[in-house]
Amino acid sequence: MYSPPAFSFSNKTMPELPEVETTRRGIEPHVRGVKISEVIVRRHDLRQPISDDLPAIEGRRVTAVSRRSKYLLLAIDDRSTILIHLGMSGSLRVISPADPWKTHDHVGITLANGKQLRFHDPRRFGLVLRLTGDPMAHPLLKSLGPEPLEEDFTAAHLQAACTNRSAAIKLVIMDAKVVVGVGNIYASEALFRAGILPRTPAKKLTKPRLAKLMAAIRAVLSDSIAEGGTTLRDFLHSDGEPGYFKQRLFVYERKGQPCRICGTPIRQAVIGQRSTYWCPKCQK
Ligand SMILES: [Zn+2]
Repeated sequence: MYSPPAFSFSNKTMPELPEVETTRRGIEPHVRGVKISEVIVRRHDLRQPISDDLPAIEGRRVTAVSRRSKYLLLAIDDRSTILIHLGMSGSLRVISPADPWKTHDHVGITLANGKQLRFHDPRRFGLVLRLTGDPMAHPLLKSLGPEPLEEDFTAAHLQAACTNRSAAIKLVIMDAKVVVGVGNIYASEALFRAGILPRTPAKKLTKPRLAKLMAAIRAVLSDSIAEGGTTLRDFLHSDGEPGYFKQRLFVYERKGQPCRICGTPIRQAVIGQRSTYWCPKCQK
């Protein structure tokens, strides 16, 4: 008889790289190639003020929807780019312009196909900026390290980043200059999968162990994106916020609970001001 694995789930709502990629995939089919008929800004004071010239994109077309780290980029046919960050609590929905505005709906981009992209952000740590130059040269994007799921994130790259670095490996993989999008949950989970103690000084790790870690980072993020695929329909709901999917977890927030592999109680400590979880037996 089949019995499903007893996983615990994180109820986090903060969008991480997999949620941002899921958002990109969710909105792209409704937005790409479509003309923008109206821009409505209800509230300007996000982490940075919303660009005053955002309405300049009215009458223009969205040519592409891409992602860099946790930023979404809407390419517009006037060569500008709308840069969106979801911050701590942001979300994007594709709804009808007639749908009522909720308290924390700050921006609506109405499209010629009768839909509206609505930006919602209760804590207002998000961003909606219009960039007119090369978006990759923008201060928010120019110093970012490689994408974890792209080919330039290699074992050799990770090894170079760890050479002579005595910082804990967990801090190194969470450094956006080394690789982007590895948040606290994914860093703990990837280190568990790779069998590496989070506090290990980066320079002490051998090349094979770093190669294993690189593969584990890719795996935790791609597994999460794959799970997110089932929530794509949420982007079309006008009620509530997209339910960011729950990640299957081996160690994160499992302090004192038995390791799913060996049964040893999971340990927890603060490293670099962030809670870190590991199995003292499976990780060396
Ligand atoms: Zn274990």
